[in-house]
Amino acid sequence: VSTPRVALVTGTSSGIGAAVVKHFCELGHQVLAVDFNPAGKAIAEQAGAAFFEADLTDPDACRAAVADAVKRFGGVDILVNNAGIQHVASIETFPEEKWRQIMDLMLTAPFLLTQAAWPHMREKGWGRIVNVASIHAQVASPGKAAYIIAKHGMIGLTKTAALEGGEQGITANAVCPAYVKTPLVDNQIADQAKLHGMDEQEVIEKVMLKEAAIKRLIEPEEVAQLVAYLASDAAGAVTGSSFNIDLGWTAH
Ligand code: NAD
Repeated sequence: VSTPRVALVTGTSSGIGAAVVKHFCELGHQVLAVDFNPAGKAIAEQAGAAFFEADLTDPDACRAAVADAVKRFGGVDILVNNAGIQHVASIETFPEEKWRQIMDLMLTAPFLLTQAAWPHMREKGWGRIVNVASIHAQVASPGKAAYIIAKHGMIGLTKTAALEGGEQGITANAVCPAYVKTPLVDNQIADQAKLHGMDEQEVIEKVMLKEAAIKRLIEPEEVAQLVAYLASDAAGAVTGSSFNIDLGWTAH
């Protein structure tokens, strides 16, 4: 049984974020779902969550999202930094504009959201920050420079927040999934096929599941369960850690 909390989750219009919102609502949390896609409103409301439309590459929008949670629910106890995008290109051809967009969304936004939520967690002496990183926060693959660098940076944010939050009741952890069955991965299959000169089935088998001991994609709900554990009272001794949910990828 978990204590009901106020949770702010980003990137909730599909995939892992939508699964986290649904699971948190089932646990009885009050949830603010934040996404730049207006279609996320219906998805959030269907799960029982409130919705705040924000493009998180905009620093003011990050702060406004936290302010909205505070206005509606009186604080932020749980922050799940999940919004992310991918762009596949070699370093030599990587567009600078894409690099900056990925850094803004996947590093600066999690930092600013953490900063804005922090005083509310500190006041209560209880807070949980869960960063949805990636197995690409632990290992690299060719063709994804900005994503891999942002995700590695997210582990640095997680560790720093854990050290600063230790005496304030705030924990920070990261989850690191391998390929999860979401639209982000569907789009990548086509891009990777082009990069590697393969057909799409070959990309799944030979690229995405090459290192996996368990030969299937991960379900978003499986990631949501791990996020929920890290956001729970039960995980009070767990901080500064990264949890791989990677089908055995990094066991090599
Ligand atoms: P997804 O594409 O299904 O969902 C991403 C969400 O982020 C969408 O709802 C999208 O609208 C939102 N978003 C994108 N840009 C935004 C912006 N500027 N402002 C606000 N919201 C924005 O992707 P997903 O697979 O569910 O990924 C969620 C997180 O999990 C990402 O950080 C991703 O890197 C990470 N992840 C995914 C996988 C995977 O295989 N799918 C593996 C490891 C890590």
